[in-house]
Amino acid sequence: MSFSGQVKRELMHLQPERSCCQLSELSALTQCCASLVLRGGGRMSVVYQVENIALAKRIFLLLKARLNIIPTIEYTFSPRFGGRRICMLTVPESDSRKLLVNVRMLRQSESGDVLRSLPRSAISKRCCRNAYLRGAFLGAGSILAPDKGYHLEFVASSSERAGAIKYVLEKCDLHLADTVRRGNTVLYAKRGDDVVSLLGMMGANQALMDMENARITRESRNQANRAANCDQANTMKQISAAQKQADAIMLYRENPALPLPEDLQELANLRLEYMEASLEQLGEMMHPKLTKSGVNHRMRKLIKFIDDQTKLQQGE
Ligand SMILES: [Zn+2]
Repeated sequence: MSFSGQVKRELMHLQPERSCCQLSELSALTQCCASLVLRGGGRMSVVYQVENIALAKRIFLLLKARLNIIPTIEYTFSPRFGGRRICMLTVPESDSRKLLVNVRMLRQSESGDVLRSLPRSAISKRCCRNAYLRGAFLGAGSILAPDKGYHLEFVASSSERAGAIKYVLEKCDLHLADTVRRGNTVLYAKRGDDVVSLLGMMGANQALMDMENARITRESRNQANRAANCDQANTMKQISAAQKQADAIMLYRENPALPLPEDLQELANLRLEYMEASLEQLGEMMHPKLTKSGVNHRMRKLIKFIDDQTKLQQGE
């Protein structure tokens, strides 16, 4: 099952208990999954079309519990869903107006205009905003698997429908970008913080944990890579420094002005013999042993001695 499918399955285990939240979720599902079928003579029916049977059942139960509306159920094959089998819930004509007024998708003004808005609770109460976003995700959302990165989106069939979701998101301080894809308006979140916040608000706690675990795995992998790169860089630096030291010593040995003092001689011999050894390891081999900073100091003294002698020689 896709990660989107897993998140939806998790969300469908959550039942909105308060009637305000039930209405809010139903409003989002109506925005995302329903269309209005006009029958002529001012008659109309609200028809929900969903591919997911569990979601169809959820809409059925919300309609029944919250508004005492019983839709008829039929299955059909829809070109809109790529010819796949979908479930159609048709709200009776006699109840359709009641439903639209309750979910605030229909409000008749004095001039007879039809206006769209949102249930006030979907904006003002946190529980209802969360329920609205849950409904919107169930009806129109999808999310990328955690190991693939951060991407959560809502696909709405019109800019008006997307506008309602965007409005609620903004009330939650989430500002999603939008784009048009194949005639649909797509709202999407690509920032990890936004995706995680959305999962949290909708109540998808398992998905949220999966997301965080993937983030930790990704970060520790990056850290390990950085550490390996850093080790490699240090080793390269160490080898190149050892090479320079050995070159200077060999060159001096070919034509020494003065023999190296005894303490420097020992270090020079060890350097030539153990090219790959670090200063610390050279210190271990010395008699008496020297610390890393002791070896470092002596190495500088050795190179300075060689430099000074070479300059004297060239000056003559
Ligand atoms: Zn509520």
